[in-house]
Amino acid sequence: MSIEQQINKIREELRQHNYNYYVLDAATISDYEFDMKLKELQEMEEKHPEFYDPNSPTLRVGGEVTKNFNTVVHEQRMYSLDNSYSKEDLLDWETRIKKLVDGDVSYTCELKYDGASISLTYENGELIRAVTRGDGIQGDDVTTNVKTIKSVPLKLKGDYPVKFDIRGEIVLPYEGFAKMNQERVAAGEEPYANPRNTASGSLKLQDSSETAKRPLDCLLYNLAGDRLGISSQYESLEKARQWGFKVPQESRLVNSIDEVLEFVNLWDQKRRELPYETDGVVIKVNNLQQQEELGFTSKAPRWAMAYKFKAEQAVTKLNEITYQVGRTGAITPVANLEPVQLAGTTVKRASLHNADQIQKLDIRENDTVFVEKGGEIIPKIVSVDFTKRDHNSIPTQYISSCPECGTDLIRKEGEAQHYCPNIYGCPPQIVGRIQHYISRKALDIEGLGGETVALLVKEGLITNYADLYELTKEQVIPLERMAEKSADNLIEGILKSKEIPFERVLFGLGIRYVGETVAKKLAKHYKTIDAIIAATEEELVNVDEIGIKIAQSVREFFNSESNKTLVEKLLSHGVQLQISADKLANQTETLKGQTFVVSGVFEKVSRNELKKLIEDNGGKVSSSISSKTTYVVAGANMGPSKLEKANKLGIVIISEDDFLNLIE
Ligand SMILES: [Zn+2]
Repeated sequence: MSIEQQINKIREELRQHNYNYYVLDAATISDYEFDMKLKELQEMEEKHPEFYDPNSPTLRVGGEVTKNFNTVVHEQRMYSLDNSYSKEDLLDWETRIKKLVDGDVSYTCELKYDGASISLTYENGELIRAVTRGDGIQGDDVTTNVKTIKSVPLKLKGDYPVKFDIRGEIVLPYEGFAKMNQERVAAGEEPYANPRNTASGSLKLQDSSETAKRPLDCLLYNLAGDRLGISSQYESLEKARQWGFKVPQESRLVNSIDEVLEFVNLWDQKRRELPYETDGVVIKVNNLQQQEELGFTSKAPRWAMAYKFKAEQAVTKLNEITYQVGRTGAITPVANLEPVQLAGTTVKRASLHNADQIQKLDIRENDTVFVEKGGEIIPKIVSVDFTKRDHNSIPTQYISSCPECGTDLIRKEGEAQHYCPNIYGCPPQIVGRIQHYISRKALDIEGLGGETVALLVKEGLITNYADLYELTKEQVIPLERMAEKSADNLIEGILKSKEIPFERVLFGLGIRYVGETVAKKLAKHYKTIDAIIAATEEELVNVDEIGIKIAQSVREFFNSESNKTLVEKLLSHGVQLQISADKLANQTETLKGQTFVVSGVFEKVSRNELKKLIEDNGGKVSSSISSKTTYVVAGANMGPSKLEKANKLGIVIISEDDFLNLIE
């Protein structure tokens, strides 16, 4: 046997042992024997660096240091799921499904693990990349850290597809978490708050050998990719298991919502016996063809639903109500609580939303209150224990002036929130707008954080986001905790932001109601900021999916002289305020005014590519057939209900090739 063959043989043995131990939980050799073999391999690899393999079991121990985690765009978006809380919610969901697909619907029920979401990319059976969920569109490349998690296979077994992504959750089992905390407390450090945050923090450690020391586990349950040769979610779980992934065994295939509820009720109790935190059940339409037909809303798949276990409650005392001012001037009342343990974390604050909410629940300082943690990061107060209220208690008087700048608050008709109208003079608004501008989904300025923004404003170096582009290194260096290197990074990050595409700059401007999606729509429709500024309210409303509220807000923003000056300043600094020439070159108006429905499986382009082609050529993609549909582009296995509907309405059905000819 050659040296290379020997090395590969030991690698293969160690891989199998890893799998037995960490995935199957059934070791066949002792830890000592394993360590000896690993050592032997390490020595051989050191002597023969020519046989280096980035996926060798020796690299599980980590050691590589990552300073900055690269941002990677997910090839397929990682959607979040819609939530349901009752049988009625689930039955409503089923009704919606049955309107859109034909035939029987079966469901897979899977436990919803509370960890850090991850997407793993495999090519030719090897782990290529591991990326955090991030905002669902893009995340951080944490491959070096994920490779140290022993239950993540670095090489696959069996008949895996050439290329695919698999999604799941990185979790920290209770036991390992408790042990980590014991060690920290013994060392005089603060214990970690909860397993979920600790798991996601572990993925962002710079030193991968530190990640390797943490008892993380990786549970996988969702395949993504084109042409995987799989026809149902349940089958995909079984396949993934065969390829060597740790796929939870609790999943069940059921045929009705009643059976879904049985699964929910069973696990609402039994989950306490599991080694990991779970917070609900994920229910998916099992048949992938039906999933395709159902498609997605802008936020979530129509074919999946999360059912949340009932949140845990805690009782505590409300010490004080304080008020926060956001970047739009919106005032948020906050309840400062006597610290209390709730679902594994210490809760000190709860959101009170607005004046109406306080009045409705009659919440007062010194009350005893019930606190609940839903999906939100900040817990909320659900009710007051009136039996414990002191008879001297005074009803809460909502503030009438801004806690930060003293300006009288306003409340527009029909709105729940109070606002501080001092847009250009109220410090948290000034800082908040700039923080929004530099945030990840907007200009994503590397090397500049929220705290530095606050400092720059406080020192009088900037008062708006356009000022960022006039900052010099000399101005920045004297700031607290600012070294030469970080000053360089900051200036460089600001320069680089001039390459960020128009739609994200438009989002970054901070126009009320103009979120990411709306910004994209406006950028695509108008192509330049000048065109948007020139558009009347009526014209704006005529843009697809732009309502009156958004149109008014856009007009209001650009009617302001100071905002117009801001935009001019951004323009003079070379920030992208129009769609780039490259992008325009790929776009045509060929399909203008035409609406397409895409159904089935395609040969030459993927479904997503097809949809992009439609949009790039000025067409609109819709998920359901109506009289407004111009064409249905049908691939193999087009859904029978869609076919029937198209025929009934007399909509022309075209093939993939027909479509490609249309845009030739
Ligand atoms: Zn104010």
